[in-house]
Amino acid sequence: MRDAAPQTIYLKDYTPFGFDVLEVHLIFDLAPNATRITSRIRFTAKPDAENRDFFLHGEQLKLIRAKIDGEEITPTLTETGLTCEVPEGDFTFEAEVEIDPANNTALEGLYMSNGMYCTQCEAEGFRKITYYPDRPDVMSTFTVRVNGDLPVLLSNGNPVDQGEGFAEWHDPWPKPAYLFALVAGDLVAHSDHFTTISGREVDLNLYVRPGDEGKCAFGMEALKKSMKWDEDVYGREYDLDVFNIVAVDDFNMGAMENKGLNVFNSSAVLASPETATDGNFERIEAIIAHEYFHNWTGNRITCRDWFQLCLKEGLTVFRDAQFTSDVRSAPVKRIGDVIDLRARQFPEDNGPLAHPVRPESFQEINNFYTATVYEKGAEVIGMLKRLVGDQAYAEALDLYFARHDGQACTIEDWLKVFEDVTDRDLSQFKLWYSQAGTPRVKVEEGWSDGTYSLTLSQNIPDTPGQLGKQPMHIPVAVGLLGPNGDEVRETQTLELTEARQSFSFDGLAAKPTASILREFSAPVILEHDVSRDEQAFLLAHDTDPFNRWSAARDLATQTLLAMITENAAPHADYLDGVLSVLRDDDLDPAYRALMLWLPTQSELAGMLADRGVTPDPMAIWTAGETLRQAMAQHAQDLLPRLHSQMKVDATYRPDAEQSGKRSLGSGVLFLTTRLDGGTLAKREYAKADNMTLQLAALNALLRAGQGQEELAGFYSQWQADRLVIDKWFGLQVSLADPDQTCIVAQKLTEHPDFHWKTPNRFRSVLGPLAMNHAGFHHADGKSYELLADWLMRLDPVNPQTTARMCSAFQTWKRYDADRQALIRVQLERIAATPDLSRDTTEMISRILDA
Ligand SMILES: [Zn+2]
Repeated sequence: MRDAAPQTIYLKDYTPFGFDVLEVHLIFDLAPNATRITSRIRFTAKPDAENRDFFLHGEQLKLIRAKIDGEEITPTLTETGLTCEVPEGDFTFEAEVEIDPANNTALEGLYMSNGMYCTQCEAEGFRKITYYPDRPDVMSTFTVRVNGDLPVLLSNGNPVDQGEGFAEWHDPWPKPAYLFALVAGDLVAHSDHFTTISGREVDLNLYVRPGDEGKCAFGMEALKKSMKWDEDVYGREYDLDVFNIVAVDDFNMGAMENKGLNVFNSSAVLASPETATDGNFERIEAIIAHEYFHNWTGNRITCRDWFQLCLKEGLTVFRDAQFTSDVRSAPVKRIGDVIDLRARQFPEDNGPLAHPVRPESFQEINNFYTATVYEKGAEVIGMLKRLVGDQAYAEALDLYFARHDGQACTIEDWLKVFEDVTDRDLSQFKLWYSQAGTPRVKVEEGWSDGTYSLTLSQNIPDTPGQLGKQPMHIPVAVGLLGPNGDEVRETQTLELTEARQSFSFDGLAAKPTASILREFSAPVILEHDVSRDEQAFLLAHDTDPFNRWSAARDLATQTLLAMITENAAPHADYLDGVLSVLRDDDLDPAYRALMLWLPTQSELAGMLADRGVTPDPMAIWTAGETLRQAMAQHAQDLLPRLHSQMKVDATYRPDAEQSGKRSLGSGVLFLTTRLDGGTLAKREYAKADNMTLQLAALNALLRAGQGQEELAGFYSQWQADRLVIDKWFGLQVSLADPDQTCIVAQKLTEHPDFHWKTPNRFRSVLGPLAMNHAGFHHADGKSYELLADWLMRLDPVNPQTTARMCSAFQTWKRYDADRQALIRVQLERIAATPDLSRDTTEMISRILDA
């Protein structure tokens, strides 16, 4: 059975459910094709309820029998659920249903992955397990019995009882159904324990497939660090006797915060130095922290409805970023986050898929797990903290936890605690939640008689369904530098609340250079005509590490745009500036490595389109290659010394210090390969004893058009390791020349290891195809066609992953008429596919409507 006709759901239509759920008992009799679920749910009618309709969600369920208070009933069944007459007051609803986990390829609800049973219920997967009011504002305690002949049988909460072929679990904390989880399989545990701040002992287990035991230690340490950090920084203590994490290969997302039983994509938890890169380790640490932090921001306090998704996600992303900044380098983390925000969120916010941080309508909620809800949602929390100050932020959070524990809340509840603590009126600030589009902040400067003035004007572009927006409350952090580079005014936060507003700084001896939007204090696009001299000055002197990096980025952008549009040669001031940063041994190597990164090709395409120039993907690619070559030549004398300085002799540790050195060393190797024909990279590849160095050398070789032998060797070495083979697939597509990208990707989809129904493997080839800008937008249009072919093939199997990947086409209106026509053909072809899922239908129609 496929989805019913798409229906749009609106925030303004929210009505509470007419009943409370007092408790839930579930019995699972596991069988691959016929799992039986017997539910016993105690309801009570809310005395003041407006809506007395008793409707339980349920999809793709075979109802065996239903009872109310022990009497068998014949409910009315629809494609989306069940209705029936119910008595006044308290009553017990029971149902027995049958489902087919082995054939559940959508990976929502209960499904199977390599013989293991696993669930994913957020957002609306529980309705594929049994009949239930599957909405986040219905919270209840759950008792679950799992019957099955597998060695490990897990569910949420604390273990109550277990024996041959069964286990029983009880979760004392009321939760919505989207946090339900069940896992059963032939798994082994990597175990440890944690003593909480009040002295309670918690058993910790990381369950993996036999053979993966050696990849658990880092994840476990990250979990303990997260638990401690949340106690120290937010005063949040863990609340169950056990905390279990399970790694699963088939998973649509990164990980899921089910109460007491987190389920992780194996790529987001398993790691060893031989098989995972420094980047993988850092990501794993951040995701473990993120899911753990949800225990308070998401689980104990949850969302009233799915429009409030940013309530849990924005806050939890903000918290995991704070954690990473604390345990690693704050400036490096901030720069990485901003690169990511500009690469993923800005295009979304400025294209057909733009939506507010709190959307006002959707057809399929799965399509709103977006960079806007997560990353811009986190930026909003960061701005709020900056505006109220650290002390008030801490007090507001304490009040939030005290006031709303056990509740399903809204953005209004969240902002109210800040208003109560600070007495500030946050109604204008709240526009960040409702107005889509990236604000543009234009900067004008003035100078006379020792007074420097800064005039800021804001403009929020129109987005689908939203025209003519109001000025927002934008915190702009500013510092001033004197002519010798000294800071003459420390960072202060200017509050831009009007369409146009001036700020002045007097008593200055000489005209200062302004460092504006320090730490990227707001997710905006700054429109500021800064001379190259001034940018070079900031690159040399800015005391704010973020803006110092930003000056380098702006110089790189300017030089690239001039190369693309005017055929200019690379600017010497950019090359000199980067060289002097690379030479500065006082700077953190990780920070210096970031200076080597150029703006992405897609970012440049967006900037050109912004300036009214149709981007030519080949010209953008060529400019990047030319500039990298020029950087290599310019830094030629420094590279050998820097490369040997970045060698790590100690035992491998994926910490900030070592990974920073490897990161800069890899950047240097990348440049060196452009000069020495690959001699050094071949040598480095041969002696690499960890994945970071092995992959860096292989990347450098492939990018220089070499390394075919090493590529083949890499495959035979790692053939048995699915996570490493994902990398092997991905790097070939992402590093292919524009002419070769589609051919390489096409060939890889015919490889016997291309198990396309596994989301990680599907994404390992088709993801980089869409990300390889010049290859994807090749004038022959073949990459568009290849991606569309695969999306159409995946849609009936896994709508959620298909729909997400449609966003590859979201920027199509930027390009020339020929490319637009080629893309339109593919979008219309996808849209015309019979029985296209609700998820993909919604995405394609939003993109086509651009
Ligand atoms: Zn989350």
